Amino acid sequence: MEKIKKSEAEWRQELSEEQYQVCRKKGTEPAFTGQYWDHHEKGMYRCACCGNELFSSDTKFDSGTGWPSFWAPVSEDNVAAEEDNSFFMRRTEVLCSKCDAHLGHVFEDGPAPTNLRYCINSASLKFDKDKQPGP
Ligand code: FE
Repeated sequence: MEKIKKSEAEWRQELSEEQYQVCRKKGTEPAFTGQYWDHHEKGMYRCACCGNELFSSDTKFDSGTGWPSFWAPVSEDNVAAEEDNSFFMRRTEVLCSKCDAHLGHVFEDGPAPTNLRYCINSASLKFDKDKQPGP
C-alpha cells in the first residue's frame, strides 16, 4: 500500500485539535463523547486523516464501552497492529496502514466470529454513507 507521509505542521493544519491529538499523538477521546459510538447507519468508516477504508458498519457492534467497536477491519491490509506497553498496560495498538494514524486498540474479548474487539476513537474515523458495505 502506498504510504502517506506528512509533516506535523501539515497534519496540524488539516485536522481538528481533537483529531490531531488522537490520530497523530495517540490520544484517547473520553468515552461516550465521540461522534460514532452510538451510530448505526450502514456505510464505511474511513480514516479521518487519509480516507483509507477501515471498518464496515457490518462489523460494528455495541460494546457498551462508549467507543465505536468492530469485530474486524474491512481488510487486514488496511490496518496495522503494534505492541503498546504504555500506561503499564500490555495492549495492541491499531493504526491506519496508509498514514500511520492512531486508531485505538484491539482486545480479545469481542463477539463471534473473530472474538476480537477493535476499540476505535470516533476522532480517527470519518463515516461515508455512500460507500455501502457488502460484496
Ligand atoms: Fe489513514
